[in-house]
Amino acid sequence: MEATMAKVHNYSAGPCILPQEVFEEASKAVLNFDNLGLSILEISHRSKNFVAVMEEARSLVKELLNVPDGYTVLFLQGGASTGFLMSAYNMMRENKKGGYLNTGAWAKKAMKEGNFMGKAVEVASSADKNYSYIPKGYSIPSDIDYLHYTSNNTIAGTQFKAVPETNVPLVCDMSSDIFSKEIDVSKFDIIYAGAQKNMGPAGTTLYIVKDEILGKSSVPVPTMLDLKTHADKDSMFNTPPVYPVYVSMLNLRWLKKNGGVAAIEKVNNAKAELLYAEIDRNPLFKGTTAVEDRSNMNVTFVLNDEGLTDKFNELLANANISGLKGHRSVGGFRASMYNALPLSSVQVLVDTMQELEKIS
Ligand SMILES: *Cc1c(COP(=O)(O)O)cnc(C)c1O
Repeated sequence: MEATMAKVHNYSAGPCILPQEVFEEASKAVLNFDNLGLSILEISHRSKNFVAVMEEARSLVKELLNVPDGYTVLFLQGGASTGFLMSAYNMMRENKKGGYLNTGAWAKKAMKEGNFMGKAVEVASSADKNYSYIPKGYSIPSDIDYLHYTSNNTIAGTQFKAVPETNVPLVCDMSSDIFSKEIDVSKFDIIYAGAQKNMGPAGTTLYIVKDEILGKSSVPVPTMLDLKTHADKDSMFNTPPVYPVYVSMLNLRWLKKNGGVAAIEKVNNAKAELLYAEIDRNPLFKGTTAVEDRSNMNVTFVLNDEGLTDKFNELLANANISGLKGHRSVGGFRASMYNALPLSSVQVLVDTMQELEKIS
């Protein structure tokens, strides 16, 4: 059956495409994990077999991202949406103020959470142009406890090309571009990311936390939202999301086997160049974001003539391209090109755009 199933080019914004071999191995563990005669879904999270999975997942993160000493890696629950709240709770100091770079829907949601136990200050915003660019030339107040930003704006399709320069502690929501390019972890106090954009299936959230910040909040932090709770227990304070951690671990193994982050970054750059070049060349299409701030992960574009939408959608369906519909707040199209999407799938999309040009 697999041999005859047509290949689908999956451009879903999240949950994301994962490598076929990861799905195959993950499915085997559901029936018989580690030759235990038991499913991974029914074993104790305290069993040595699962503890080994958790430890391998954590150490692969450290290895793949060159995480320096003095940082702890955690696989928690609650999604990046809980990360908005947790990061604020854990970073509040005597100012009880966090600074936020408002680059889109996710950043706005993070700001909302920052107001629960302190004050969220908007340091810069690109709301004036529907978040189609990354703000520049802003000044960062010195009386904030931390600066929070979203490295890649999954919905609008913009991406920070450099880490903001600042002396205040830095917090970053990297949900949609973690493991897509090399980063310098030492610049950050907290990095968090929902797994389902580029790391694994939905259900776990990655935290990379500088040990120095643990237990230093100026506000009372509920137990489950305190990163120290989880760091002290090696990410096993309560039952961890066993299966999402397992599948994420398999995907990180796949990434390592394929040359790691530096190698995938080259592929991701090639994918982005190929698609943006076609958007810029093809007179039927137009990109929706500032050229210098274009995301390599989520490429947003529109048809100049919306009357061609049905025809284009038909061609996309014929080419087995799925998940290209733009977010409702932006319209048009969004091609999410996470790590597991091969360059050949991007070529199929480019060919389809050229086909539309030919027949219209
Ligand atoms: C999807 C997304 C979120 C929300 O993640 P959940 O895991 O669904 O809570 C937050 N931030 C960014 C940048 C995202 O892309």
